[in-house]
Amino acid sequence: MGIEAGWAIAPPPLVDGFGRAITYLRVSVTDRCDFRCVYCMAENMTFLPKQDLLSLEELDRLCSAFVAQGVRKIRLTGGEPLVRRGIMTLFGSLSRHLAAGTLDELTLTTNGSQLPKYARELFGYGVRRINVSLDTLDPDKFRAITRWGDVGQVLDGITAALDAGLRVKINAVALKGVNEDEIADLVAWAHGRGMDLSLIEVMPLGDIGDDRLAQYLPLSIARARLNERFTLEDIDYRTGGPARYVHVKETGGRLGFITPMTHNFCESCNRVRITCTGTLYMCLGQDDAADLRAALRASESDGPLLAAIDEAIGRKPRGHDFVIDRRHRRPALARHMSVTGG
Ligand code: SAM
Repeated sequence: MGIEAGWAIAPPPLVDGFGRAITYLRVSVTDRCDFRCVYCMAENMTFLPKQDLLSLEELDRLCSAFVAQGVRKIRLTGGEPLVRRGIMTLFGSLSRHLAAGTLDELTLTTNGSQLPKYARELFGYGVRRINVSLDTLDPDKFRAITRWGDVGQVLDGITAALDAGLRVKINAVALKGVNEDEIADLVAWAHGRGMDLSLIEVMPLGDIGDDRLAQYLPLSIARARLNERFTLEDIDYRTGGPARYVHVKETGGRLGFITPMTHNFCESCNRVRITCTGTLYMCLGQDDAADLRAALRASESDGPLLAAIDEAIGRKPRGHDFVIDRRHRRPALARHMSVTGG
């Protein structure tokens, strides 16, 4: 048996210049979204022309090249991944890597609006856990945050996902003066339905036509307030991501804190991100990137693509350097979260 045959089960991982194995790929399949969250996008966004996007076949080829290089987890994101036309075809084709044992997890991050339509199909393609973004349960606040969204549609989506057998984690961005008084209720609500919840600090990504400082709520403050209602016990639970978790004694559930602004999580980073045009970002918070679309289209063989991936991973930076303070009212990066894939 040749070495390659052995690698078909467990290829050697991609390792960056700091010795970190890259096993997690996040892929933005579209920059478009059916919501316009105030911290994420400007109201009048200009989206990419459709012809600039990688086709679903190209996205499959790209993801499969990373699987061949040792990536064990793929998350499709966006924009809103479930508004990309034909997206179930991609879940279907990528599910072959789950069946082959070369991929441990295929998942997505979604705003939930399309889950009533797709939850069962996702489960059928081997998706088992999903992240749903939801910042408030209040219909008026929800509309104000998303500009266009209907919270009832998202709640129906969450119910459909749970009914389909998917485990759901809720992600909520903590927003000063918007949902800060509701965070404890969100915890009780999510945990009451068997869902974990993670709180996220606003990151300075992209011009949103608004002031970041006005939105930014340090999670240290949110946590101190939660302590007044709940007993938070630090636990070791890790998902390989940036969240630090606590066990909430009163609810029995898990609560995560994702604190890019107050806590640096880069030393254990195992992930890279691809945009819907095939640009590889080695760090969410840095501009350095590699054009994998050119490598992908350069040849029908995957040789140039694999070489481009290897070369780019070697350049993965040590970490990011976000700052929001009174002197840094501009975005740290020009690109929006919806471009890099949140
Ligand atoms: N549409 C999908 C969704 O809503 O989950 C996937 C993409 S969305 C960009 C992914 C996550 O990024 C969402 O939880 C969203 O709230 C979060 N997000 C977007 N912009 C952000 C920012 N500037 N800071 C922190 N989180 C942000």
